[in-house]
Amino acid sequence: MYDVIIVGAGPAGLTAALYLGRACRKVGIFDNDQPRNAASHGVHGFISRDGILPAELRAISRAQLATYPNVEVHAATVVAAARVDEGFEITLENGTRHRSRKLILATGLKDELSPVEGFSRFWSKGVFLCPYCDGWEVRGQPMVVHSRGEIAYKITRLLTSWTQNITLCSDGPAELDESQRKELALAGIQIIEEKLARLEGADSLERIIFADGTQLECKAIFTRSAQQQPGELAQQLGCKIDQDNFIPSNEAGATGIPGLYAVGDARTLAQQVVLAAAAGAGAATLINQELVTEMFKKLVEAV
Ligand SMILES: Cc1cc2nc3c(=O)[nH]c(=O)nc-3n(C[C@H](O)[C@H](O)[C@H](O)COP(=O)(O)OP(=O)(O)OC[C@H]3O[C@@H](n4cnc5c(N)ncnc54)[C@H](O)[C@@H]3O)c2cc1C
Repeated sequence: MYDVIIVGAGPAGLTAALYLGRACRKVGIFDNDQPRNAASHGVHGFISRDGILPAELRAISRAQLATYPNVEVHAATVVAAARVDEGFEITLENGTRHRSRKLILATGLKDELSPVEGFSRFWSKGVFLCPYCDGWEVRGQPMVVHSRGEIAYKITRLLTSWTQNITLCSDGPAELDESQRKELALAGIQIIEEKLARLEGADSLERIIFADGTQLECKAIFTRSAQQQPGELAQQLGCKIDQDNFIPSNEAGATGIPGLYAVGDARTLAQQVVLAAAAGAGAATLINQELVTEMFKKLVEAV
């Protein structure tokens, strides 16, 4: 029986494991090595680690965790999770079961890229998610926002921090109101509503080819991919996934189901390595406090 099981060994889960390990808790962390940022050429914005490869960041983190004998790291897919009397029970794909008093879901998200030819090929080689992560490397160059509606409007405005050469390619109706169109036009931003046919380039993205045969040179596309939970563990535990596909929880990650926490990308649009790590640390300290409180309650009741 673990004090805490953590599903997912990304920045969120690994940080939670480190905090709980250092609090002398018995921790089991289970991960199937499918990090969301696997395609990234460098994790940016994490102080002291700017530009590090995602795999290297994980390797360093795991090596440091290995010095805590009370933290067990398992390479495994968790296929099921249930609430049991003492807390939680998870089932691995080989049928093995493990129990814990508290459970953290740090399972990240899955991106569903546009099916347009080239989006998968240029993922992280010109097709990006977040300008804070990848904008600096392409600053000042022609950039495209691939999105529609309010979010397209917001990202397009945001991108002016990195370049003045921006085109909004909505791949269909842009779904902007007149005032938004006017504002973007005043900033010199063109809106192209023609459908995209494919992306082209040699080693990295060079241009977009539209369905009508026209083309647009660009070095970077910032796209809003649809985001899905990687599995159904949260639902199995009684959480109702919200309209944006996040696990509903408060700022600290508490889901409302006693002892169950969700941290990192799985619960928020604020998707950064440093924020995921901070969320893991925050949830871990709360969980440890809960475990301490439960122990004192038992002591008092036993008198
Ligand atoms: C292409 C790309 C580039 C990015 N670049 C940056 C950047 O430069 N800087 C930055 O700050 N952020 C960047 N991000 C965002 C950053 O990667 C995420 O915010 C961060 O990884 C979230 O951490 P996490 O621990 O919540 O999830 P993840 O890192 O995705 O980790 C989740 C883990 O859970 C595991 N898992 C899921 N389900 C199960 C299961 N059922 N059983 C076992 N294991 C499971 C997965 O295998 C995975 O290892 C980038 C994202 C992408 C997609």
